[in-house]
Amino acid sequence: DIPCVSLLYKLDRLKPAESSTYTPSSTYNDKIALLRNDITKLEVDSIVNAANNSLLGGGGVDGAIHRAAGPELYDECELLDGCVTGSAKITKGYRLPAKHVIHAVGPVYQSTKRQGKHTSLLQGCYRTSLELAVDNKLKSIAFSALSTGVYGYPSDEAAETAIGEVRKFLDSGKGDSLERIVFCNFTEKDEKAYFDMIPKFFPPD
Ligand code: ADP
Repeated sequence: DIPCVSLLYKLDRLKPAESSTYTPSSTYNDKIALLRNDITKLEVDSIVNAANNSLLGGGGVDGAIHRAAGPELYDECELLDGCVTGSAKITKGYRLPAKHVIHAVGPVYQSTKRQGKHTSLLQGCYRTSLELAVDNKLKSIAFSALSTGVYGYPSDEAAETAIGEVRKFLDSGKGDSLERIVFCNFTEKDEKAYFDMIPKFFPPD
């Protein structure tokens, strides 16, 4: 019972859908996709996990990724010595259809907002994840909606930061080697936020 109002790409091979309710900009038409699905099902070069500082698993999408990837993922994560908030580290994907997992540690909204750091920390997650994908010669990356679950980030604000940072990265030319950047939402509220926000950063012609 998941109405995919904004499915730009079919899930199977992430090919362009025959019909889409949303017309993306021609500039990045072939790069940006919005999906509503379980990120552990995506056959892409990398998926971005909403991890915590320990990188040793948790609830939400983190738990789903560790369950689907198998215990080898935990073993590799144990060697990473955690990760600071606003950054990310990469591992292999093990039993996932995705080749790699990029573990990004998003900010807890309330506490970081009080310090005025929430936006720059969330931007750091998206920027570092994109850099890791490029540095590892990966062609596709699918983001979960970092910090919008237990960490309490409002969906519309998170979508604005996420999409804005991706746009900035592409405009800098650093993302030229990336073929597809997927925003993989799970909830209707996140999907709606992305659906409203994508045209602001990637306007249709
Ligand atoms: P955080 O602690 O960073 O808020 P959560 O895992 O609680 O992380 O939530 C991050 C986002 O991941 C939420 O929008 C949640 O709906 C979404 N999510 C949960 N499970 C999945 C999944 N299997 N695939 C994709 N997204 C998921």
